[in-house]
Amino acid sequence: MLTLDQVKLKSMPRMSGLHPVLVAATVVLIERCYARGVPIIITQGLRTIAEQDALYAQGRTKPGSIVTNARGGYSYHNYGLAVDFALLLPDGSSVSWDMTRDGDKDAVADWAEVVQEAKALGFESGGDWTSFKDYPHLQMTFGLSLADLRAGRKPTGVQMDAAYARIDKLQGEADELSKEDVKRISDLEIQYKAIMMGLESLVHSRDVLKEQALQQAGDIKDLKDKASMLQPPAWARPAIDAAVKAGLLDTPAGGSYDFYRTLTVLHRAGLLITIHEGAK
Ligand SMILES: [Zn+2]
Repeated sequence: MLTLDQVKLKSMPRMSGLHPVLVAATVVLIERCYARGVPIIITQGLRTIAEQDALYAQGRTKPGSIVTNARGGYSYHNYGLAVDFALLLPDGSSVSWDMTRDGDKDAVADWAEVVQEAKALGFESGGDWTSFKDYPHLQMTFGLSLADLRAGRKPTGVQMDAAYARIDKLQGEADELSKEDVKRISDLEIQYKAIMMGLESLVHSRDVLKEQALQQAGDIKDLKDKASMLQPPAWARPAIDAAVKAGLLDTPAGGSYDFYRTLTVLHRAGLLITIHEGAK
């Protein structure tokens, strides 16, 4: 999928030399069409008078088919007040002039969507002309005829301000859409945080439970050890008997494992009796 930046970059080479209002309007046109699922490319922008003359010669004094009825100075392109567009296909390099194409599958021809957006931005569509329909052509005249432009007249500041206001309003709508997206993203972030907090407390609970289980296991082991030591182990029996006999031990039970082990070691070393006899 083409990004908006990629789509915009495609048209940049044709934007230079355009009247600033047309630059602004064309950028918003590209954005709004993209947002509708219709990538477009600007194929023509400013055409110098020499270029226009060469184009006019095509199909007349030069080979090829006629593409324009305008001689140099007789097209709004010559004053940076017109652009031509085409549909940019998903491969990002092919263009299409198929006016029935419905690439975004919304049952409205992509071409008609572009023209609709362009008119909302203040463009006039060459597709509306009666004598020579120029479907890819979009222009802004500011009420100036070509004769006016040839005579050097230009859009006034008031006209430009009005045009910018119209463009800004539509760009603002596009921004509001992205504000909605920002809101959606922040909602998702809040949900994500809540889920992570829940997950963290689950992990914490699990750790606490684990700790408690280990603690209980330890307690049970201690209790079991104590219970077993209430009755001295059988292997300690001879040592206990010897110790009792030697007068070293009053009670033959209740000692710890370590105590019985030490007692047994002393007994096996023959020390229990030795101590007793030595004490006599
Ligand atoms: Zn044109």
